[in-house]
Amino acid sequence: MADDDHSTKAANDGDIAIVGGGPVGMALALALARHGGRAHIFEARERGAVREDPRILALSHGSRQILEWLGVWRHIAATPIAAIHISQKGGFGRTLLTAADQALPALGYVATAASVGAALDDALHAATIPFHDHGRVDEVAVGTESLQLLTAMGERTARLVVYAEGTIDANAGAVTRDYRQSAVICTVTPTTPHGNVAYERFTTQGPLALLPTGASMAVVYTCPTETAAELVALDDQAFLARLQSHFGTRLKFAAVGRRQKFPLLLAYRKSPVGERAVWLGNAAQTLHPVAGQGFNLALRDLWELARTLDKAEDPGDARLLARYAAARSKDRIAAIGFTDALTRLFDIDLPLFREARGLALLALDTVPPLRAFVARRMIYGARAW
Ligand SMILES: Cc1cc2nc3c(=O)[nH]c(=O)nc-3n(C[C@H](O)[C@H](O)[C@H](O)COP(=O)(O)OP(=O)(O)OC[C@H]3O[C@@H](n4cnc5c(N)ncnc54)[C@H](O)[C@@H]3O)c2cc1C
Repeated sequence: MADDDHSTKAANDGDIAIVGGGPVGMALALALARHGGRAHIFEARERGAVREDPRILALSHGSRQILEWLGVWRHIAATPIAAIHISQKGGFGRTLLTAADQALPALGYVATAASVGAALDDALHAATIPFHDHGRVDEVAVGTESLQLLTAMGERTARLVVYAEGTIDANAGAVTRDYRQSAVICTVTPTTPHGNVAYERFTTQGPLALLPTGASMAVVYTCPTETAAELVALDDQAFLARLQSHFGTRLKFAAVGRRQKFPLLLAYRKSPVGERAVWLGNAAQTLHPVAGQGFNLALRDLWELARTLDKAEDPGDARLLARYAAARSKDRIAAIGFTDALTRLFDIDLPLFREARGLALLALDTVPPLRAFVARRMIYGARAW
């Protein structure tokens, strides 16, 4: 979309600049609009690129509520998850979390990031929220009253910048952990209906997740980084055989779609706020997808941010940003810790650990309050603690 005269002028007067028009940046712009605010999105790529995003998102019940509030849920092609089957390869113990147990219509939903992105983009169009594509932001200079953004379209002024750029700058002093793992993602067709059951299987190579999506299953196959290229290069039959032996026999697979790999790591900024700045989504914390927390956490964050900035005279006011960071701290730390602990706990290939994990899964299966606790953690975030 070309940057028209009207939006260029408004950008110069805009209060909030969002760097990055991915799912998080777009959802924030809509959330701010719900509170009567107006932000400008600056996106480096072509508008609509998000409609090609191959990632699969497991969305929690809480995320559904936020996406409903944003008015986009009904346009997202989402498959409900009726149950989650959790097991470990080469060890005993398994557990089944069900929606019926939690008295909910679904434990969560599976949608393509492309479908979520398309629904958000359509809503932005409908609300005429300024979206400047080919609008890469290269530099931001902070002043006492405002900010100067150096963009591909020239200079812009704002009072608050929200970074939703999908990565954390190498010089940001972020806490990082390289899991030396990558995720190979693809879609497979099962030979029998999946019954809306999601599978999370922990293996010493990393977790393997299969998520019901339409009649197919989306696969997130975590493996050591050096194995990922090999898995992507295998022909379809060889890959299906590898996947089948890794997953076991609970489901059989007939066909596989295109495969892509993503490097996995943990990286998070110590604080998600700075001088007239907020970091959101992957720009604030990049998480291992094992527990499907990244986008879900970002939605809860942006919901709170929009609420905090409601009718603010100066959205860059340090006190407001501190209040937002404090309100989100508990959930953020819990999501980062939960994801990291899960990844590392199931990574250790020692008999004692295998048994302890088996016992934990057994306990989860036989102690309903414990099961409810874990299910609620996945569904609502730290509100469940
Ligand atoms: C394999 C995999 C599976 C996942 N599964 C789940 C899941 O089940 N559930 C879940 O909640 N999360 C999941 N996630 C995480 C989820 O995908 C991310 O949290 C989410 O997509 C991040 O969105 P974002 O908008 O922050 O970043 P991005 O989608 O990366 O968007 C960032 C945007 O910023 C733009 N940009 C970058 N730099 C600039 C700049 N300087 N100026 C202007 N624009 C810029 C980019 O072009 C891009 O469009 C998964 C991730 C992976 C890798």
